[in-house]
Amino acid sequence: MISGMMRAVVLRSPHEELLVEEIPVPVPHPGEVLVKVAGCGVCHTDLHVIKGEVAFPTPCVLGHEISGTVVEVPPGTDAPPVGSRVVGAFIMPCGTCRFCARGRDDLCERFFAMNRLKGTLYDGTTRLRRSDGDPLWMYSMAGLAEYCVIPATAVFPLPDGLPLVESAVYGCSILTAFGAVRHAGDVRVGETVAVVAVGGVGLNVVQVAHALGASRIIAIDVRDDALRTATELGATDVVNAGQEDAVTAVRDLTGGEGVDVVFEALGRPQTFEQAFELVRDGGRMVAIGIAAGQATAAIGITRLVRRSIRVSGSYGGRTRADMPEILRMAGEGVIRAERMVTQRVPLGRAADAYQALDGGAIVGRAVVTPDA
Ligand SMILES: [Zn+2]
Ligand SMILES: [Zn+2]
Repeated sequence: MISGMMRAVVLRSPHEELLVEEIPVPVPHPGEVLVKVAGCGVCHTDLHVIKGEVAFPTPCVLGHEISGTVVEVPPGTDAPPVGSRVVGAFIMPCGTCRFCARGRDDLCERFFAMNRLKGTLYDGTTRLRRSDGDPLWMYSMAGLAEYCVIPATAVFPLPDGLPLVESAVYGCSILTAFGAVRHAGDVRVGETVAVVAVGGVGLNVVQVAHALGASRIIAIDVRDDALRTATELGATDVVNAGQEDAVTAVRDLTGGEGVDVVFEALGRPQTFEQAFELVRDGGRMVAIGIAAGQATAAIGITRLVRRSIRVSGSYGGRTRADMPEILRMAGEGVIRAERMVTQRVPLGRAADAYQALDGGAIVGRAVVTPDA
């Protein structure tokens, strides 16, 4: 058993600066594992909590996209053994609710009710405490720390040869992209795709769509550096929406038709409405950008109905089915987390990394390295 203290990044309340605290190393219960964190991705969803745009109990430890090494597995727990290099998925399915029973881990009732609303695991308690006993709530597995406890349903062995720190990105950004491309978008070989906003998730939509055989992938963004990275990851065409009208540009590139599947990865009404205009007749639009609060968008009912367009949302992925497939593809080199990781950040600088993310100063992904 690992005992003693560890460093963790604590959010004391929304809008406050993230601070490193010394807290006791958490103890896993049966059905959970303790992981020594190697990498924790700096994701927009954490930022929504920091900025108070998504309600979450505080004080808490954020960080939900991790890689690391298993250091403790309680008896009777079905999990990769101690010493395994693993990736943790941000949707930690309970495995038993009516959605999990149908394989829809992305809708797990208990994950959203217990973890996302209350900051606990499935017994209604958190594994994290301050030395004085005060609870610290867990956002997913609370990965912005030297160690974290993860339900075994969300822990997956990393194939040999893949870099441990960068592979953290498989757990949220790539899982989310894979879920959108494979399930909601159902992209088939030879189909055409457009991706509106190529930030952390959008770049991975490009990479996964390329891996699954999309023939043409049009990346749309206002930042040229992001568009350059999209090209490296498989985009065949890029549109700088700050310099030209995206709808006209995509129509021009597709003979006036639009694309088979468009992904909206920003979550703003304007880009949502624009994305709808990029879909060809009979095509699909997949919304993956999280919008602020009660945002709404207006799309044309007549076009939706008469042109038989399908609009669907997609959040995360089906953890237990998707993660092994993602990591198999990664092992074969078809998708690569490290291609989009552009910065490594020590734990003590996590606050700066989220500030940079907020300011649009991070292309690709930054990964916090508690070990470094
Ligand atoms: Zn995330
Ligand atoms: Zn469930």
